[in-house]
Amino acid sequence: MSFTLHGLAVSNGIAIGQAHLISQATLEVSHLVIGPRMVDKEVARFEAALASVRSEFETMKTGMENSPTDIRAFIDLHLMILADPELSEVPKQIIRERRCNAEWAIVQQMEILVAQFEKIDDIYLRERSHDVRQVVERVVRELTGHPVKAAKGVKGENLIVVAHDLSPSDVMAFRDQHFASFVTDVGGATSHTAILARGMGIPAVLGLHNARQLIHDNETLIVDGTTGVLIVNPDRRILEEYQLKKSQFEIERSKLKLLKTARATTLDKVKIDLLANIEGAGDVTAALESGAEGVGLFRTEFLCLAHGEMPGEDEQFEAYRKAVKGMEGRPITIRTFDLGNDKILHADDALEFRPRPNPALGLRSIRLSLADPKSFQTQLRAILRASKFGKVKLLIPMLSHAHQIDQTLAALEQAKSSLRGDRIAFDEGIEIGGMIEIPAAALAVGLFLRRLNFVSIGTNDLIQYTLAVDRSDEQVSHLYDPLHPAVLMLLVHVISSAEKANIPVSMCGEMAGDPHLTRLLLGMGLRQFSMFPAQIPEVKQKIKQSDISELEPVVRRLLRLEESAKIHEQIDRLNLA
Ligand code: PEP
Ligand code: MG
Repeated sequence: MSFTLHGLAVSNGIAIGQAHLISQATLEVSHLVIGPRMVDKEVARFEAALASVRSEFETMKTGMENSPTDIRAFIDLHLMILADPELSEVPKQIIRERRCNAEWAIVQQMEILVAQFEKIDDIYLRERSHDVRQVVERVVRELTGHPVKAAKGVKGENLIVVAHDLSPSDVMAFRDQHFASFVTDVGGATSHTAILARGMGIPAVLGLHNARQLIHDNETLIVDGTTGVLIVNPDRRILEEYQLKKSQFEIERSKLKLLKTARATTLDKVKIDLLANIEGAGDVTAALESGAEGVGLFRTEFLCLAHGEMPGEDEQFEAYRKAVKGMEGRPITIRTFDLGNDKILHADDALEFRPRPNPALGLRSIRLSLADPKSFQTQLRAILRASKFGKVKLLIPMLSHAHQIDQTLAALEQAKSSLRGDRIAFDEGIEIGGMIEIPAAALAVGLFLRRLNFVSIGTNDLIQYTLAVDRSDEQVSHLYDPLHPAVLMLLVHVISSAEKANIPVSMCGEMAGDPHLTRLLLGMGLRQFSMFPAQIPEVKQKIKQSDISELEPVVRRLLRLEESAKIHEQIDRLNLA
C-alpha cells in the first residue's frame, strides 16, 4: 500500500531507496537475577561495555576534525555523561546490591536520572535527559551484542535509514556506509542530527511521528528533504516523477559547486559580499570551501558551551588565532560571548545562573559581559591578541542602549592598555561593530551608527523580540514570520539608515542564508550577507541571476503592503522572474 507522511524538511534533496529500519527497543531490557558468584563477572561485563563505548566515542572524535564544532561538542557531552559516576559507578552498586544483570541496572539508574532532569524548569537542561537516554542506549546495545551497524553486505547508497531517533554518534557510525538519507520520528530542524545531515549533503526529514512503526524493512521510499515529504511504496508514475526531480536536483547541485570561485556579482554588476557564520576554528575549512570571502559572525560562546566553562585567555587566544590564520587574510568578525537565555554555562561560578522569569529579557549577552568585567577583559585581551594575525573585527551582541557601546569601548581601551603594558602586539585600529537584533536598536539605529564602524543585523532575535515569539518554542513557531510587515519595516530602516550614514551593514541571521529571500534583501539595499557555509553557493547563484535596478522598484512597492499573505505572494513572484 502506498502512503505519504509529512515531517520537517531539514536537509535538501531527493533520495529514492529501500527502507532500513534501525531497532529502537533496546531500552526494554529483561530483569535477570544472578547468583552471588556471578556478581563480579557482571560488574566486569558492565565495565567492558563502558570502555568499549568510550573508545568508540574517542575514535569518532578523532575522525571528526573537519566536522561542525557543535557536533564535536556533542560527542564531548556524551563522553562526559558516560564518565559521570551516576552512570559509571551507581549501576555497579545496583548490580551488587540487587544481584541483577548490567543492562537492567543501567536502565534503572537512567530512569531515576531522567525523572530528575524532567523536573527541571530550564528547557536546555531538561532536554539533556535525551542525551542521557542516547548514551545509555549505546551501552545497552554493547551489552546485548547489538552494536549500531547496517546489515553486512548492504549497499548504503540505496538505503534509507528509518529510526525513531538517531543521535549524532549513531549518524557518525553510519557515515562509512554512505546511506542515501535519514528519516526519524522525532527531532527538530536545528537538532544535531539535522545539522549533520546538512553537513553530509544528504536529504533528511525528521519529526515524522510514527514512521518507524508504519514502515517495514526493504519497502521502497522516496524522501523529499526539500519539502519534508516521505512517500512509502510509490506507484510507477510517482517514482518516475521523483527520479526526474532527483536528477534535476543533482545537476543543479553540481552546477553550484562550480560557483565556488565565481564572484557574487549581480546582472547589473553590483558586487555582494558573501561571508560565513562559524562556531569555531574547525568550521574555517567549510567556510573556505564554500567560497566565503570572510567570516561575518564567529559565535564564540560555543567555545564555552563545548567545554562547559569559560576558557582562559590563552585557550581563547589559540582558538581565535587558529580561525584568523585559517582565513588567510580574509576579514573575520569575532562576536563577544552571547551567553544567557538558551546558551547557558552551568559550570562557571563567576556568573550567576539562577532561573529567571524571562531569561530572554534578562542578564544575557553583552549585559552579562559588562556585568562580569574580569571575564570580559579576558575575552577582549584574547581577541586583541589574535588581531595581530589577520583582519579581525569585534562585534558586540544584543545592544539595546548606546551606553553599552561606550562601556564596551572603555573596556576595550583598558584591555589594549594592559596589552601595551605587557608589550603584546595587537591591531590598534581594530574595527568595532554592533548587532542590531533588538527592536529598540533597530528603531533608534542612528544612536548606534554614530558610535560604531559597522553593524550586523541579527534577524533571529530581531524577529523574536519584534513579534514576541520565542524562537525556540515550536508551539508558537507558526507565528515566527520573517516577512511580517513590522520586521520588514525595521530591516529597511536599519539598512537605509546605515547606507545614509555610510556605515557598512551586514546581516548574519538565518534570513541572510535563505535564497528565497535573497532578492528581497538585495532590493532593500543589503550588500553583505553572512550565513552557514553550506548556504553560500545557492545564495550566490540567486545573486548572479538578479538585477538590482529591476528589483528595487518592485521591492519598494512590496514594502508598502500590510498583509503578510500578500507579501509572501509577491516574494514568490519576485523569485519567478
Ligand atoms: C541573530 O540573532 O540573528 C544572530 C545571528 O545571533 P544568534 O542566532 O547567535 O542569536
Ligand atoms: Mg542573536
